[in-house]
Amino acid sequence: MQIHVIGGGIAGASIAYHLLKDGHDVTVFDRQDAGQATTVSAGIISPWVSQRRNKTWYQLVRTGAAYYPDFIKELEALSGHETGYLKTGAILFFKDQEVLPKAYKRILDKQQDAPEMGELMYLKPDQQQELFPMLTTDYPSLYLTGAGMVSGTNLVQALRVAIEKLGGKWQVSSAAPSKSVDFTVYSAGAWGNEHQQAVPISHQKAQLLHFTIDSEKVFPVVMGLKTHYIVSFGGGKFAIGTTHEDTTSFDDQPTEEAKAELLELAKMYFPNQQLMNLHMSVGLRPYTPHFLPVVQQVTESFVVVNGLGSSGLTAAPILGKEISAWLSQKPTTLSLKDFSWKEREE
Ligand SMILES: Cc1cc2nc3c(=O)[nH]c(=O)nc-3n(C[C@H](O)[C@H](O)[C@H](O)COP(=O)(O)OP(=O)(O)OC[C@H]3O[C@@H](n4cnc5c(N)ncnc54)[C@H](O)[C@@H]3O)c2cc1C
Repeated sequence: MQIHVIGGGIAGASIAYHLLKDGHDVTVFDRQDAGQATTVSAGIISPWVSQRRNKTWYQLVRTGAAYYPDFIKELEALSGHETGYLKTGAILFFKDQEVLPKAYKRILDKQQDAPEMGELMYLKPDQQQELFPMLTTDYPSLYLTGAGMVSGTNLVQALRVAIEKLGGKWQVSSAAPSKSVDFTVYSAGAWGNEHQQAVPISHQKAQLLHFTIDSEKVFPVVMGLKTHYIVSFGGGKFAIGTTHEDTTSFDDQPTEEAKAELLELAKMYFPNQQLMNLHMSVGLRPYTPHFLPVVQQVTESFVVVNGLGSSGLTAAPILGKEISAWLSQKPTTLSLKDFSWKEREE
């Protein structure tokens, strides 16, 4: 089939890549809006620690995380580009000793279905310091070996190169659904209401604070208290996030308020450290009202894929593979009907 993919964030790029592997003729259109979620994403791949109970979501992100190593291996070989995917492990903080055993059990219970999450262990302060010396030891912690991270920017760059190597086209331009092709995939992130009304898309402004600390290596991801997280990029570069600001604005400018709030947190997690080279980045995270990704066939030749929310980098590669299988009339592993907006509305 001749297919247009509108939107070249991680959703569109993953779908286009898999469609090309399944033999379709694909053109991606991406207009590189400021605030694109993928390029500023923290890139944490660790769905097993979430307390979210929604089974459809968990099945998607669990399968997504399991697919990552094979997906990355093939993509890096084909594109010749590094994606920054690394199993760094994750340090998980909890507010007190009382909740620790419950959290340990909750996460460990997932291991049987998700062996890729690796080992889960209690950390003593000296063990935690060995893994991440600059980090506070004020909170009880666990360590999960299978957690990882990826660079959204590098990942999309690698996908774009692979798409072109596979014979697809990538146009840096705006596009609207066109009747001149067999099929259109509309994966436009926060801008996803412009050419369809079937699925309501909203977004949150998400701000991250970047800073440096005198250090070299890449440290484990930190899942802090509440929804805080810290990622380390190597070479002394770190980021802490994030804000969750519901908005209808497409303003991608950072705010002093968010910077102050995130700096406070950074100082709490890195006491006695000099935090240098502070700067902010901002992305617009696309959501549906149900906080679940949507794969909605609107007409015979038009599908909306959106609402990847705060776990889009984890979910998109497997979603791309499954959507391509479905459009190629091959069996899928996930039930894509579960991601239909109308099905959930009824
Ligand atoms: C700060 C932050 C941290 C995050 N951390 C994580 C994390 O740790 N782990 C994780 O799994 N996920 C994370 N996410 C979530 C993840 O980044 C998003 O879910 C994902 O990037 C959404 O991808 P997308 O392709 O749907 O949208 P986007 O990446 O926003 O891409 C949409 C693209 O469509 C283009 N477009 C729109 N309309 C048109 C048109 N008409 N024509 C052409 N192009 C168009 C836009 O220009 C844009 O480039 C984070 C997100 C943010 C913002």
